[in-house]
Amino acid sequence: MSNLHRESMSFREGVDRMVDRATLAAGLDPNTAQIIKASSAVLQVRFPVRVRGGIEVFTGWWSVHSTHRLPAKGGLRFAPHVNQDETEALSALMSYKCALADIPFGGAKGGLMIDPSRYSVDELREITRHFAQELARRGFLDPATNVPAPDMGTSAREMAWIADTYKSLYPEDVNQDACVTGKPVNRGGIPGRTEATGKGVQLALQEYFRHPEEVAKSGLNDGLTGKRIVVQGLGNVGYHAAKFLAEEDQARIVAIIERDGAVINEAGLNVHDVRQYLAEHGGVKGFSGGSYQEHGSKVLEMDCDILIPAALESQIHAENAMHIQARLIAEGANGPVTYEADEILRRRGVVMLPDVWVNAGGVTVSYFEWTRNLSHMRFGRLQRRFDELRGQNYASALEQMTDTEMPSRLRAEIVRGASELDLVRSGLDDTMRAAFADIRDTLKRNPEIQDYRTAAYVIAIRKLAQSYHDLGLVEAVD
Ligand code: NAD
Repeated sequence: MSNLHRESMSFREGVDRMVDRATLAAGLDPNTAQIIKASSAVLQVRFPVRVRGGIEVFTGWWSVHSTHRLPAKGGLRFAPHVNQDETEALSALMSYKCALADIPFGGAKGGLMIDPSRYSVDELREITRHFAQELARRGFLDPATNVPAPDMGTSAREMAWIADTYKSLYPEDVNQDACVTGKPVNRGGIPGRTEATGKGVQLALQEYFRHPEEVAKSGLNDGLTGKRIVVQGLGNVGYHAAKFLAEEDQARIVAIIERDGAVINEAGLNVHDVRQYLAEHGGVKGFSGGSYQEHGSKVLEMDCDILIPAALESQIHAENAMHIQARLIAEGANGPVTYEADEILRRRGVVMLPDVWVNAGGVTVSYFEWTRNLSHMRFGRLQRRFDELRGQNYASALEQMTDTEMPSRLRAEIVRGASELDLVRSGLDDTMRAAFADIRDTLKRNPEIQDYRTAAYVIAIRKLAQSYHDLGLVEAVD
């Protein structure tokens, strides 16, 4: 559940306040900020579906925050607490995220008020299809204008159902696959999309730890190896982030917080085993590889190096911000730290790597998938064998010139043409690094800005303002 009762403002108002703070810090025109903050459209639909012999009426939203670039892009959330304010806040975050990561999309977000665990797969398919029809018939699902992706409570499965619904409505649309991203790979998806957001969290942390002067701000040192990490939410984002950080960076996942409590193991949890247990039992209670703590929210306050909130918004709020002991917070979820908590944590010197950067991996790879769908060709198809041939020629030339036979592993590495997954990972890594380079550059140029979130917002607002200026909607930027 959102913790709105603990805050003096809603999620959307909190995001708006972050824009105001960045506007003030960078000396940008407040009128421009007003225009940027406003959502461009919100569709609310109610639709009946026959479930188990009765009729149930479902409520869903699609919020379009910006259309300066099209399509407007955003995740589709299936959860009982979904509401219009949340959907609007998340669509605004998408605008800022896409601008920061240089993804040429507007920001949008969808939500369906539903507890997916209460329905069978067949029922969920029926409900999802109805929702997709409602969106498509009103022009809010289309490869050119509004393109959803997975978010909390949805996955490649739901995206496949949505794509199929769109196809049945518009079979003549040659770009029909591009109406949604995050599809299964054999249904027009792209390798690396499922894990993209979690992978992006790992890449963001790796990038942060490449810069000792930035790492010093959090009081941490060296690289990720051995860092004690607490993860909240072992879903798509949290699971992949934790898994990659443990397996590839030798970080220690000392606690995992789920809905029903947390499991703790100072020696490091086996992330895969916890996930398997969670899938089988619906919670972490009873998992034998760690000790169980019933009050998950208390474990957020546990002593650790890095806290990765990857469940939902407003988890770190005005009441617990004082007690957070992590030195570094990497925001896998959208809006996990409220505006008020952000102010408290900044005063306390806790470093936050903001959501608009850290979880941008999902929309980045969605962008790759969308362009792949429009080109109707997988990445690398034209040049892979050509690259292999060139690699073989390089390797042979080297061997001839040095009169030495190359070790077979080295030769294989030089000769290998990039797979589509290699290209996706490379593009994702590049995007995460470039965004952090922009953030650091903004901090250098604006010494009055002290934190990464404000810097990220300044970049995003400037880009949006420039784009609106090009359309004649706002005064010149600067
Ligand atoms: P998900 O549904 O796959 O996983 C969410 C996990 O959090 C689940 O395991 C759930 O049991 C757990 N959870 C829910 N409430 C909790 C609570 N109160 N305490 C502890 N755990 C709780 O969702 P996801 O796709 O991983 O999304 C998680 C967050 O990341 C959301 O804020 C989402 O908007 C954001 N995000 C997701 C993507 C993506 O590609 N999926 C991209 C960017 C941002």
